[in-house]
Parts: sequence; C-alpha cells; structure tokens
Amino acid sequence: MDSALSPSEQRMIAAAADFAANTITPNAARWELERTMPDNGIRPAAKAGLTGMLLDESLGGQGMSKAGMARAMEQLSMADMGYAFVMIVHNNFMNAIADGGTDAQRQRYLPDMLSGECLGAFLLTEPQSGSDAANVTTTARKDGDGWILNGAKAWITSAATADLLSVYAQTDASRGWRGIATFMVEAHLPGVIRETPYSTMGAHVMGTGGFRFENCRVSDDTMLYAPGDGFKGAMAGIDLARANVAAMCSGMMANSLEVALAYAAERRAFGQRILDFQGVQWQLADVATDLHASHLMAYAALAAIDAGQPAAIPAAHAKKFATRAALAGIAQCMQAMGADGYKHDFPLARHLACAKMAQYIDGSTEIQNVVISRDLLRPFD
Ligand SMILES: Cc1cc2nc3c(=O)[nH]c(=O)nc-3n(C[C@H](O)[C@H](O)[C@H](O)COP(=O)(O)OP(=O)(O)OC[C@H]3O[C@@H](n4cnc5c(N)ncnc54)[C@H](O)[C@@H]3O)c2cc1C
Repeated sequence: MDSALSPSEQRMIAAAADFAANTITPNAARWELERTMPDNGIRPAAKAGLTGMLLDESLGGQGMSKAGMARAMEQLSMADMGYAFVMIVHNNFMNAIADGGTDAQRQRYLPDMLSGECLGAFLLTEPQSGSDAANVTTTARKDGDGWILNGAKAWITSAATADLLSVYAQTDASRGWRGIATFMVEAHLPGVIRETPYSTMGAHVMGTGGFRFENCRVSDDTMLYAPGDGFKGAMAGIDLARANVAAMCSGMMANSLEVALAYAAERRAFGQRILDFQGVQWQLADVATDLHASHLMAYAALAAIDAGQPAAIPAAHAKKFATRAALAGIAQCMQAMGADGYKHDFPLARHLACAKMAQYIDGSTEIQNVVISRDLLRPFD
C-alpha cells in the first residue's frame, strides 16, 4: 500500500511517526489527566510539517495525496487520536481556503495557519442539530458591506484555543440549505463568545466546546462560501473525513495490539505467559483481522478519493466498520492485559474514549447506514 506513495510522502509519514513518538506519546497521558492543551499549541506540529499537508507546494504546503496524509494521521493516532483530529480539522480548513477562497484570503490566512500561529476550527454543528446538519439556525444578516452573525455552535473541535473559525450561518431560512453561507471569523472579534470546554469521556486535548455569536460583525471579504455553496462546501470533504477517521481508528487499534502483545509476553499466570493461553491468542488474532480489514477499507476509500472516483459508499463502509472494530478491538486488547490495561499508565483507555468519539464525528454510525441503505435501496425506488 505504501509503495504507491512518493518518496517525499514516505518522508512525511516518517516525520509524523517521529513527532508522535517524541512529542505526543510522552505528553498525551498528562494532557488528558490535566485536561490541558499543549502549551505551544500546534506550532511544534507545524514545524514538523504537519500543517498544509494537502496544500500545493506553491502555497507552502506538502502537496501530499489524501492517502499520504491519512497515513501520517494514522501515525499520530497511534499516540493520540485527539491530537490527530485537531490536525485533520486544521488541515481541512486550510484546504477549503486554498480551493474555495480568494487570492486575498489565501494570502491573509494560509501563512499563519501553516506556521501554526493560527489554529482553525470548523463550526457546523449547533446545540439543536448535529446529524441534521443543514438545520443551521445561526443567522447571518446583511449589514452594509458586512454581515451580522447571531446564534450558537456546539461540539467544536479546538473551541478552547482556535483562532480562526469557519462559521456556517443561514442567510435566508426560506431557502433551506441553499441559504447557508460560510464566514471566516477571527475568534478575538467582538461578539464571539467562547464557551467553557466540555467535560467528556476523553480526548480533552481537542478542547471541544461551543461558541455563541452575539451581533458579531464581519466584513464581506470574510465570506468563504456564498449562500448556496456553504452546505455544499461543508459536505465536499465528508468522504475524505470519514476515510480519515477509519485510518485513525486503524492507528489506535495497531498501537493497542502492539501494547497488549508486549504486555502479555511479560505477564505470567498459572505458571506460563499470558500470551501462551490460546484464548488470549485468539482474542488478539480477532483484533488483528479487524485491523487488517479496517486498514484495507480505509485505504480503498482513500484510493477512490485520490483517483477522483465516487467514494461516498466505500467511505461510509470504512468509517462504520473501523469505528466499530476499534471500539471492540481496543476493549479486547485491554481485556488481554487484565486490570493493568485499565490504568492510564497505558494508552488504551485514551484510545477507547477516542474510538467512541469516532462513532459520532463526521457523521454517526447510523448516518453511515443511512448513506449505505440509500444506495442499497436505489434499484427499488
Ligand atoms: C469530540 C467531538 C468533536 C466534534 N467536532 C466537531 C467539529 O469540529 N465541528 C462540528 O461542526 N461538529 C463537530 N462534532 C459534532 C458531530 O459532527 C456530531 O456529534 C454528529 O454529527 C452527530 O450529531 P449529534 O451528536 O447532535 O447527534 P444527533 O443528531 O442528535 O443524533 C442522536 C442519535 O440519533 C441518531 N440519528 C440521527 N439521525 C438519524 C437518522 N436519520 N437515522 C438513524 N439514526 C439517526 C444518531 O446517529 C445518534 O445516535 C464533534 C462531535 C464530537 C463528539
């Protein structure tokens, strides 16, 4: 699979693995227990080349394929999927600016996002609507040469520290999804209110939380997608996002398996290594099979995306399968480690919380089934 990647992509993937081993792994447990973000934000990740991975080299990016970036994010997820998800959201936002923004917007925002000075967030979900994502009630009202934003957003990755917000807002409720436009809102502007980050099962490094907009005025030139294009823009990257979640789940499963095998090779019971019990071997063999399948499904979807082929169905299958496999498989690996697996001394508890999170982000498991069923039922319409 990796043989299809260019030498520069292979180098980036190796750099991501180094960054995961040297920067994320030594700190991830502390970040989670203290519920803190890294002090210097994503600047170290940017220094390691983990920003602008899909961006053209002419814009300062790495020009990687989607599969190449997913492989790099899989490396980060072996250490901590929460950190990887922050980077994915940031990279996707940069991509949206590169593809859909004006030259002035690219010049204004991309350099600071590349250097990690500016962290991006994606604000679609609202307190009253998640799966029903077109039901945006945050409003944008035209006001001279700008817009006034009012409303609330919920479940926003990097809400605690984000500097630049891509805000999906309704310009004309009578037009439904066609009324949704997207604005790039600097988080320090008057009228942007950052809520206290949520207390969740895990992944506190993501600083997930909400925002309120109270008569927040933005100028016309902050519009990324005009009404009619906003919702299409939000959905444009959804197959990639789902395939990436599947790849990140593969990373967590691979690390859990590695940790459980190493533990079971040391731990003894009834006069032998835990690893010598066939029951334990078969538990871990099942995880290995699911990991293999998850990996193949994720990269089949990514290959379709890279080739410009329809990928909604392979991406939905991959996300549904890999998130279920990760939740069950990581728990299985913890079981093979006995009570020690349940401790924060090992990364499995963090991985387990992230595997549960993976079943919500970028469309829940049920929404993947909606996509798959729609396709299955098409011949019977
Ligand atoms: C840690 C985390 C980070 C996130 N980051 C972001 C972010 O950065 N930006 C952002 O915009 N959003 C983000 N989200 C929000 C995420 O996209 C939503 O949680 C997701 O879309 C599901 O919406 P919901 O949680 O409101 O569930 P709901 O839509 O309220 O659904 C509740 C339940 O009903 C099921 N359901 C809903 N509709 C159907 C249907 N048609 N058929 C069958 N079952 C259905 C769902 O699958 C779910 O089980 C994040 C979420 C989490 C947990």
